[in-house]
Amino acid sequence: MNALYDARVPLSEARRVHVRAAAHTGQSMQDTNAGNRHFDTLIVGAGSMGMAAGYYLSRLGNKVLLLDAGDPPHDQGAHHGATRLIRHAYGEGAAYVPLALRAQQLWEDLEQQTQTALFVRTGVVNIGSPDDAFMREVLVSAASHGIPLETLDAAAAGKRWPAWRLRPEQIANFEPGAGVLYCERAIGAYRQLATSLGATLGTNTRVRRIECHGRESVNVWTDTNDKFTVRDLIVCAGKSTRDLLAPLGLEIPVTRVRKSFAWFGSAPGLFAPERFPGFFVASEMGGYYGFPDLDGNGLKLGRHDAGEPVAADAPLAPFGARPGDLGDLQAFLQRYLPGAGKLRVGRVCEYDMTPDEHFIIDRVPTCPNVHIATGFSGHGFKFASAIGEALAERITQGESRIDLAMFARKRFA
Ligand SMILES: Cc1cc2nc3c(=O)[nH]c(=O)nc-3n(C[C@H](O)[C@H](O)[C@H](O)COP(=O)(O)OP(=O)(O)OC[C@H]3O[C@@H](n4cnc5c(N)ncnc54)[C@H](O)[C@@H]3O)c2cc1C
Repeated sequence: MNALYDARVPLSEARRVHVRAAAHTGQSMQDTNAGNRHFDTLIVGAGSMGMAAGYYLSRLGNKVLLLDAGDPPHDQGAHHGATRLIRHAYGEGAAYVPLALRAQQLWEDLEQQTQTALFVRTGVVNIGSPDDAFMREVLVSAASHGIPLETLDAAAAGKRWPAWRLRPEQIANFEPGAGVLYCERAIGAYRQLATSLGATLGTNTRVRRIECHGRESVNVWTDTNDKFTVRDLIVCAGKSTRDLLAPLGLEIPVTRVRKSFAWFGSAPGLFAPERFPGFFVASEMGGYYGFPDLDGNGLKLGRHDAGEPVAADAPLAPFGARPGDLGDLQAFLQRYLPGAGKLRVGRVCEYDMTPDEHFIIDRVPTCPNVHIATGFSGHGFKFASAIGEALAERITQGESRIDLAMFARKRFA
């Protein structure tokens, strides 16, 4: 468990919501009787998507077993680093908007149910040239779904948010209703709710093999040779998903990519949320995203494009092992945010990239009770609540309220 998660930052006073730290204790919740019990659904990977699905299934009365190679939330997957942006006017495609809006609703429900601070409405500003495809799609998304959005030219943006030095030809599309999710706390909150509803979580338990018999049953083996037989299976095991599904004859076109991000100091107040919203910049230097100084941790910055492809089982080289880890971030700060101070702390994480950077949410054709959720390509967390709910609906009702057809794997055929 990393220090930033442990810090359990209190909810911003502006939101005036009572805060209670997530009840997640960090201790193993391995259920030693798991092997003797009956489960309807087994979830391989209790991270962002898996923990949410575990909760929504449990709420629907499904008996769930979640198995995770670590003790989630943890820093061995794609969900650490304390915070994630949630945007609704979606540059990656207007088709995502219904999912983003549903996800937002569910995050707020989760906050209420657990009385835990999970979302801060900082607003998110999208910066780029007006003819950039991402920027145009932000406008299309907002217009077609009635999402409030303001467009500012470079001079107006610099006045409103003094830390920014935009190029004269750039614009800023600001979505005031967007903001920041506390990702590790959210997984802790789902864990608390799912287990309180009876879900069993096996931590530090790696799944090594899956075998399926048509619609009848699915067998799953762990690395300690425990075997589970269930009717329904969800595989949302990040980097392992590809290898786990290959023996079922399924080719999953996902590449694991090493990514770095870091927190920086600043002059007092320059990056405070009131003066500096969350951001995504599509620039000549690449795609960069960042967060205001929340809870005194400093400005957080990461590069969205580029990164180093790595094998599923390879350890990630630590932050600083590649010149670009800090070099790219510093070059961006120098050009666009010159008031940023020194590096405070840097981390590495991973993206599971598909060729078109859209997700894969589907079933295995020969085993329709085996569901897949993977390839979240560095922008999946914001949707985890809605995807968890959709997976639960697919399993218990056959279909989900939100149409997920655009994420079918056959688009790569
Ligand atoms: C630096 C960074 C910044 C990001 N910023 C944003 C953002 O601002 N907004 C946004 O929406 N998204 C963002 N993302 C993307 C988002 O975090 C991911 O898309 C999302 O967390 C992926 O969820 P997942 O469930 O696929 O993976 P995870 O949350 O990693 O869950 C996978 C789980 O599977 C487990 N597992 C793996 N192998 C096995 C096995 N064999 N057996 C059992 N368990 C196994 C792992 O331990 C892990 O817990 C960012 C990602 C990174 C790395």
